[in-house]
Formats: sequence, structure tokens, C-alpha cells
Amino acid sequence: MRDLQIRHRDRHALREGYSPAVRRFEIASIVVFALVMAWLASVIAPRAVSTPWLALTAFMVGFVAADFISGFVHWLADTWGTPEWPVIGKALIRPFREHHVDAKEITRHDFIETNGNNCFISTPTAVAAALLPEGTAWFFVAAATFSMCLAIFGTNQFHKWAHMDAPPAAVRLLQRANLILPPEHHAVHHSPPYARYYCITVGWLNEPLFRLRFFQTLETAVTRVTGLIPREDDIGKRAALAVAEQPPPPLPKIVLPSLPEAAAGPFPKPE
Ligand SMILES: [Zn+2]
Ligand SMILES: [Zn+2]
Repeated sequence: MRDLQIRHRDRHALREGYSPAVRRFEIASIVVFALVMAWLASVIAPRAVSTPWLALTAFMVGFVAADFISGFVHWLADTWGTPEWPVIGKALIRPFREHHVDAKEITRHDFIETNGNNCFISTPTAVAAALLPEGTAWFFVAAATFSMCLAIFGTNQFHKWAHMDAPPAAVRLLQRANLILPPEHHAVHHSPPYARYYCITVGWLNEPLFRLRFFQTLETAVTRVTGLIPREDDIGKRAALAVAEQPPPPLPKIVLPSLPEAAAGPFPKPE
């Protein structure tokens, strides 16, 4: 992988893409998101108090869903399109491309630049969840959506903390407990060609998705249909082609206990 000759975009040009208009847009997104989430919380609160286990299950489902979405959106932004595209290019693709060129830049972003994007993405979903009808199943969907939007809101912050040399002690504790993205785990994504471990909320889904060749299969399908080369704009055509032509990662070996051992079970047989 060393001779891939990866050619990134210019770091300064990527930074200049962060215009005052983008910043105003981010501030508005954060304000609207906070209002909508307070509304959604007030909608689900009465039922969450009366059925706490159902609510907790929904919250867990939402958290895992956020991890998946963080991976999917990150994969989209890393792999396809260019920062020159209007709106999506400037707001979504540019920060991810900049992040590969200068991984520490994210640690210099303030609260608004870190979190504005995700607030914008989550707001319509949170509105839809607040408008769901009554009923147990709909409550589950609304509670899962609340937790998902909250975790998506946290995602860039967790990602930023994973790149900080000295994050706050409480954050380090959560990272060690694997409850938010651990830095050692995320470092796998930052080794060229940046083609795996896309999930950045907590990273629980990274290894399963890698083993299932999830993103690799999607890339093959997109290339077949459109002829596009994945991550050509990010690392240059030559490196992108080399990565696309690599054989898929090996599937894990499932080691089953041999038959006599399995029959004997974990406990010794009584005499
Ligand atoms: Zn990336
Ligand atoms: Zn990163």
C-alpha cells in the first residue's frame, strides 16, 4: 500500500471553502435543531417515563443506527463527488476531504463548525418523529429517532475528541469504555487509503461492516452502474484504481470446537 502515490487536494484551498455564508448556515442549523429536539423530547417524555425498558431499548437501537449512518455518510463523502459541488460539496464533502489532508484541523474547529453540519442533516428527521401518531410502535420509532438524532449530533464531537492529544478526563473514560469513538480504533480509518472503519459515532459496526465487505460491495455496484472510480477525487486516479482493484479482505475463520470436546460440554461428566 506504500506505493499508492496518493495525491490529495490542496489543504489551503479546502480550508478557504469554509466561508462566512457556510458559518451562518451552521449557526441557524444548530438553533433550529435544538428547538426541534426539545419539542421531540416533550412528545416522547410521558411514555418514556411509563415504559422505561421499551424506551431504553429504542434508545439503544437509535444509537446503533446513528453509528451506521455516521459510517454511511462518511463513506459517501469520502468516496464520491467533489468539494466543488454546490451546497453538498461545500457543506459535507469538503470537511471530510480536508480531514484526510489534515486530521488535526478538526481539533481546531469550534463548537459551531464541529456540530453545524449534523444539526442540519438531523432536523427534518427529528421533525418527522415528533409528528408521528400515537401508539406503542410509533412511540418506539420516535424514541429511537430521538436517540439517533442526539447521537448523530454528538458524532462530530466524538470524532473531534478522538483526534485530540489530551481530551478531558471524562471523555477519555467514555472512550476507554467504548461508549464513544476510541482514538486507537479510529486510527485504522486514517491509514491510507482511508477505505475502511468509516463509522465515527462509536465504531461498534466498523469490524462487522468490514468483514461483510459492505462498503466494498456497494462501491463495486456503483462503479458497474455509473463507471465512476471510488475516491478518485480524494486520492487521485492512480491510487483510486489500485485500491478499487485490490482483492476483498479475508472473511473471518469460524473455529468450532472438535466433536468430542463439544459433546463433553464445558463441565466434566459425573463419574
Ligand atoms: Zn474519511
Ligand atoms: Zn478522523
